[in-house]
Amino acid sequence: MHIMFVASEVAPYSKTGGLADVCGALPKELAKLGCKTSIVTPLYKCARDYFQHSTDRLNTTFETLSIPIGSEVKRAGVQTAKIKTSGEDVDVYFIEHEDYFGRDGIYNYQGVDYSDNCERFAFFSRAAFELIRSLRLEVDVLHANDWQTGLVPVYLDALYRSTSRVGASGFLEPAPRPRVNFGDSSNLFDRIQSVITIHNLRHQGRFWRDAMELTGLDWSLFTYDKMEFYGQLNLLKAGVVFSDAITTVSPQYAKEIQTEAYGERLQGVLQSRANDLYGILNGIDVDEWDPEKDSYLPANFNSKNFKVGKAKCKESLQREANLPVDPDVPLLGFVSRLDPQKGLDLVADLVPTLVEEQNIQLVALGSGDRTLAERFNLLKRRYPRNVAVFNGFSVELSHRIEAGIDIFLMPSRFEPCGLNQMYSLRYGSLPIVRDVGGLHDTVVNASDENIANGTANGFLFYWSEAEDMKKAVDWALHCYRDRKKDWYNMMRAAMSSDLSWTNSARQYKALYEKLVARRSDERF
Ligand code: ADP
Repeated sequence: MHIMFVASEVAPYSKTGGLADVCGALPKELAKLGCKTSIVTPLYKCARDYFQHSTDRLNTTFETLSIPIGSEVKRAGVQTAKIKTSGEDVDVYFIEHEDYFGRDGIYNYQGVDYSDNCERFAFFSRAAFELIRSLRLEVDVLHANDWQTGLVPVYLDALYRSTSRVGASGFLEPAPRPRVNFGDSSNLFDRIQSVITIHNLRHQGRFWRDAMELTGLDWSLFTYDKMEFYGQLNLLKAGVVFSDAITTVSPQYAKEIQTEAYGERLQGVLQSRANDLYGILNGIDVDEWDPEKDSYLPANFNSKNFKVGKAKCKESLQREANLPVDPDVPLLGFVSRLDPQKGLDLVADLVPTLVEEQNIQLVALGSGDRTLAERFNLLKRRYPRNVAVFNGFSVELSHRIEAGIDIFLMPSRFEPCGLNQMYSLRYGSLPIVRDVGGLHDTVVNASDENIANGTANGFLFYWSEAEDMKKAVDWALHCYRDRKKDWYNMMRAAMSSDLSWTNSARQYKALYEKLVARRSDERF
């Protein structure tokens, strides 16, 4: 079974967010489980830089793809690399087009989106098909990711398969002709099933309707039940409508996005695909985030011997953050993008009471929203002995914070999966999180019952309000100070959670197998 990922970001070649981590990690895990796996991704400037500074090799091919875009046909080069795994290597195909991808940013420059993003990613999505045709690759599943590759399922169904299934379902109108005429290549496409993963529904790739012209697709697809969305072209919606299966990055988020509260106005479309919508929890890189081996830490520890190592990490973090060194004071922290999604304004609301009434310490690491950053800086000036703020992005410091704190704060308004609460669990820093999305699926609340049966590993609250969060923080601080034995048991449960990719990769594999079996039930 050959799974081909089509992704606009893949770590370590390019990264702006969690999408890159998933597309870097999941193909490797699938390869270990015996799948043939490949990745198609743009050859950005940052990817070229990566190869210049790495021992990994980028191989030139003389392949040239002809990609229709609007009324033109543009050429793309193909370069390749291999990712070694304990199974078969993962083949990486880089799509090379200097005008589109040789820029300083991936999607934007200095915060301003490139005005031709629709064209760039329509070109990239179409290139995947021309690559398959040109190299005659036998692919079973094309796995698209987020809006940037939302056109992949559409191209497959409306242009490259010999018969449209969306049209054939009886629910929607038949897709238009003419299709691409491939002669004997069509069976390369008829065998393919498509999957799209939604990593964050907020980002949908919405463009002016005129962008339809660039896609090369017929205007008859520009309807409310296919690609149109309140007068605009919506690439994620198009991907959801046309793919054979849809996944998102946690089971709870898969439910939430079908509701008005979290559906970002696509809840109706997602409800109509409910039978093909799956929530599969992301894993984390358990080698990079391993408190036993982490070289960024002043001391290492594991779930059995954590007391000494963790105390050293706490002491060293208090020094680094310029806070009074005190092993008994509860040290809270977060590492996050400063974005309204993350709900950190609730933390800022609570800091004065928590400092004045409970004498807590807080270490914050974040970058993004300037107003919020300024709020935390003001709190630091007001409470220099209790609050430390690092503005910016630092991987090393993020490891030291995860290891040194007692309690991690993540009061997200919505959270498709979330990584930081998982890092916290692994480092024995009990998370206080809002009961939403992937946080719901990974954090088990410290109720009396869960504490008693040994499953509790953190604290949940329900409403996006400081008062509700405060109840959870108060309960956590009580457990930290007065129920030490329970606290250590929760740390042990947290540190023993299985957060690896292996489990998720098995679920993806099962889904692909189901899709491929469905293919043989049909007419292939
Ligand atoms: P999101 O992808 O929505 O930002 P996640 O929790 O899924 O949130 O992943 C965020 C990732 O980015 C984590 O790996 C986190 O450690 C990292 N991160 C976010 N902000 C910072 C920062 N200021 N410094 C270092 N790492 C950060």
